[in-house]
Amino acid sequence: MHTDSKIIWDKCLLYIRGQISEQTYKTWFAPIVAKCFKDGVLTIQVPSQFFYEWLEEHHLPLLKQAVLKEIGPHGRLEYAVVIDQGNKKQKPLTVNLPTYPGPAFRGVVAPEKMPGYGSDFFQLNPNYLFDNLVEGSCNQLAKSAAQAVAINPGGTAFNPLMLYGRVGLGKTHISQAIGNAVRTSFPDKKIVYISSEKFTTQFIEALRSNNVKPFTEQYLAADLLILDDIQFLSGKEKTQEIFFHIFNHLHQSKKQVIITSDCAPRDLKGLQERLLSRFKWGLTADLQCPDFETRIAIIQSKVAADGINLPSDLIEYVAQHVDTNVRELEGVLISIIAHASLTKKDINIALARQVLKHIVQHQPTTETTIEVLQKQVAAHYNIALEDLKSKSRKKEIVGARQIGMYLAKKYTTHSLKSIGGYFGGRDHTTVMHAIQVVEDCLNTNAHYAQLYESLENKIKLSIVD
Ligand code: ADP
Ligand code: MG
Repeated sequence: MHTDSKIIWDKCLLYIRGQISEQTYKTWFAPIVAKCFKDGVLTIQVPSQFFYEWLEEHHLPLLKQAVLKEIGPHGRLEYAVVIDQGNKKQKPLTVNLPTYPGPAFRGVVAPEKMPGYGSDFFQLNPNYLFDNLVEGSCNQLAKSAAQAVAINPGGTAFNPLMLYGRVGLGKTHISQAIGNAVRTSFPDKKIVYISSEKFTTQFIEALRSNNVKPFTEQYLAADLLILDDIQFLSGKEKTQEIFFHIFNHLHQSKKQVIITSDCAPRDLKGLQERLLSRFKWGLTADLQCPDFETRIAIIQSKVAADGINLPSDLIEYVAQHVDTNVRELEGVLISIIAHASLTKKDINIALARQVLKHIVQHQPTTETTIEVLQKQVAAHYNIALEDLKSKSRKKEIVGARQIGMYLAKKYTTHSLKSIGGYFGGRDHTTVMHAIQVVEDCLNTNAHYAQLYESLENKIKLSIVD
């Protein structure tokens, strides 16, 4: 029995490994042990409840594919979570958690009504809510417009509502938060959430099986239609046409349409002009990268939601190093927590550095000290080292000092408070402000960024030595 399950699981693993990054594989799949295989049910053992939830939330489609491939359409997966390792006298305590098909939500068109289409269309993720969306200047407009739409779908000037921004900045989260809020306040309204990719696949399938009419009718019946990642429709003329038709119908009947895209409408290449011009009827709101303080708030809210306590210097460290998008930020946090729970190590900066080394490129391999950094900064900006550490408010000294603090945060493991101590006894809010100023200048001032980069390059070289 054991060998059976191991052979099957090994095959699943082989398939899974080919689909994801090595890091993800090592973190989430390598620790899994096959337990048994009986009546088409493969039971795998995972290290914790948290681990199980993470797999279900993030890798379910992949697991399903693997099971389908290796066991067949009736194959099922069960998880065994070891609650207590036990000892010689007592066996380990485990609970089994079967995988159910996702719950069908009230008001959401039931996928079963659409023969031939896969099972997870139209579903809203119940975790995407306004309540757990941290607000910052990066998403203020989008969030407030979305909230207005959720209170009065189809009845505001924001129709369509178009949200755009780079990957991992919260487009899906916000658009589904609208869906979830509408579902609660207006249980009778029909909500349809669909990614453009699935919309396209469905449409092609409908064409093939002569089912375009029922396909279209499902969408025409929506009170709220969310089409996610519309950039995917670029160049797909026929799919755009059918969407254009659906859009016009819904808009005329004062039904709400929400669209997301990874770039501004003007940059959406390969989308028909007549479709693009429709977006101007409503509101277009962009999502930006969250700033340092918002990143800290996001991390705090995520760990609070998971009931985990992280030291504040570690939170700062992660917020400082992972600055491109929220999904990456989440991924890093989860990796840190997973490493800690698997290796039974404490969650501290050393562990964070170890995890980040695999993920973030500019992570130095060896430490530098604040004193060394201060010397490099003073020399580069041609000011006296004493001034850098003084309380002087002269403009060029303040500027260099801010860069010094920024670099200290980036290249050492000192907390904000400790860094403040090195730069004339300033408190952590001053350091935080300095980091924000430097980030803003780097984003907006090319000359400033150039000067900074040449300094950073020198620092990197000195660290490698
Ligand atoms: P996109 O659709 O733009 O690629 P997502 O909506 O999938 O991005 O967001 C990526 C992840 O980051 C999600 O898990 C989401 O919950 C989270 N996220 C994004 N923005 C925020 C925020 N402001 N506060 C909390 N979590 C966020
Ligand atoms: Mg998305």
